[in-house]
Amino acid sequence: MVNLVCTGCGSLCDDIQLEIAENRIARIENACAKGATFLYALDNPNRRTANLVSHKEVSLERALEEARHLLSDAKRPLIFGLDNSTLEAQAKAIRLARKLGAVIDDASSFSYGELIQGLLDGSPRSCSLSQIKDKADLLIYWGSNPLHSHPRHLSEVSYYSYTDYDESGWVPRVNLACVEVRETELSSICKPAFKLAPGGDREFIQDIVSMMKGGQGTEEAGAFLELIKDSQVCVILCGRGLIYSVNGNFDSFNEMIEGLRQWTKVSVIPMIDEFNMLGFNKSLREEAGYINEVSFDSGITHSTEFSFLEQVRSELPDCILIAASDPFSTLPQSLSRKLASTKIISLGSIVTSTTKAAEVVIATAAPGLERSGRTVRMDGEEVNLFEVKKSPYPSEEEVLEKLLGEGK
Ligand code: SF4
Repeated sequence: MVNLVCTGCGSLCDDIQLEIAENRIARIENACAKGATFLYALDNPNRRTANLVSHKEVSLERALEEARHLLSDAKRPLIFGLDNSTLEAQAKAIRLARKLGAVIDDASSFSYGELIQGLLDGSPRSCSLSQIKDKADLLIYWGSNPLHSHPRHLSEVSYYSYTDYDESGWVPRVNLACVEVRETELSSICKPAFKLAPGGDREFIQDIVSMMKGGQGTEEAGAFLELIKDSQVCVILCGRGLIYSVNGNFDSFNEMIEGLRQWTKVSVIPMIDEFNMLGFNKSLREEAGYINEVSFDSGITHSTEFSFLEQVRSELPDCILIAASDPFSTLPQSLSRKLASTKIISLGSIVTSTTKAAEVVIATAAPGLERSGRTVRMDGEEVNLFEVKKSPYPSEEEVLEKLLGEGK
């Protein structure tokens, strides 16, 4: 058996065991169903994409040639994706964007961006997943149902991994709570589960802030405050439910966290689905000063007009390089139609709606299974990925190097 770090979600579980026989996965241990499905798909030749130009199979050299041609002809190129790429590939993509004078963006511009920006600036404060185990006595999943998005999160790093035992069985050492708009598998085991009306997160947060300042609030907001005051170390794990409910604006949320810290040490971890969104945001910030929505057209410019969604909406890019991302599977139809009218170069391992729509597809090795690399987990810890089986495909980093004109 060989050890593997699973890149099936942002948890990056590092205890996966694989049995490899004749360069195929023969057995997987410890992975959840989501992770195992993901790994078997990467190992299934029918799911792997080929190098394509105009939907016809070609050699790698021909696909690279056509990609270079499209990029050099483009007047307004855009590079998008990279949240499921290694730090090494992200660095090459940023260099390519700089060289082309392109716009570069990732999915954080329409999801975790503002929260990540705050965390990188130090407000709200974050903590590592290992600190959860060592210190926290209260965990609050807010707008997140890890049983679906990160299936081993509860067992690997939080509630179930964190127990004492006595004659009656296991005893949790941490209080588990959630803030949700629905009944979920998670809410059924939380004590308490705060149930909000859909879109009610901002109002709930404002009630808590108001009560902290001595004003009026609801019974639920009061109960939330008491729960926090009763704990010593609380970690709030924020999911997409919260992100979309506050429409990406975290001002009130950050004010609430700052206020709560007068009683309790409160930290925040974003429940990022992609395995290296945080890495992309950190890398771009180091290179350009901003975490996303950057144009290298004349120097460095940051603006919401450079968000992927805005670019597609306004049909500005004349060539889009999409790396390890499948926006066609998530965009509304109106935007998908606009995206489909642009020349797309897709870099990826498996067949997706995006590789089916692309003018050029370059097949790449799967990071963490077929290539080594580094990544940044949702809590900011750097994690090493290791190659455990051979692949005939180049890594994304190697492809981007060739597009830069730097590869061998
Ligand atoms: Fe992979 Fe995520 Fe499942 Fe862990 S929880 S095995 S990282 S899919």
